[in-house]
Amino acid sequence: MSFFNFLKSFLLIDFIKAYLLAQKYFFQKKATINYPFEKGKLSPRFRGEHALRRYPSGEERCIGCKLCEAVCPAQAITIETEPRDDGTRRTTRYDIDMVKCIYCGLCEESCPVDAIVQGPNFEFTTETRKELYYSKDKLLENGDRWETVIAENLEADSKYR
Ligand code: SF4
Ligand code: SF4
Repeated sequence: MSFFNFLKSFLLIDFIKAYLLAQKYFFQKKATINYPFEKGKLSPRFRGEHALRRYPSGEERCIGCKLCEAVCPAQAITIETEPRDDGTRRTTRYDIDMVKCIYCGLCEESCPVDAIVQGPNFEFTTETRKELYYSKDKLLENGDRWETVIAENLEADSKYR
């Protein structure tokens, strides 16, 4: 057999092997999904977009202790507080610079009243940097929007906390 014929038969064997491999995977369950029309399952511990939660009465959970601000390694959180007439303390400003945030989850871990959380939303891209400076209103709005899923996730994870 000439070298040329040997090379041809070698390439043919490789082609047949590749073809059979492709056939095998063609009929198997796909490893990818057709995002954004299909979405994968998220863990209850998924650390997505931040949200500030309320109690069922509508009262804000956050008591302005500033633990989250102190623990944040990226210094992304800015809080200002004021006492209320009833003696409780609440925030007058709660900002998160989402550009600085590294999604470490320490703010959520440190909060004594489960007020600041990282919810399940991962689709919050913006066109401008400014839109990623989250205000208290924006964070409370996120909390109202995602409260059902957030509460379910916290419940599912509670035995490990
Ligand atoms: S997730 Fe981490 S980096 Fe982001 S705001 Fe919370 S503590 Fe800071
Ligand atoms: S979100 Fe939690 S940790 Fe942060 S100031 Fe409010 S109560 Fe304290």
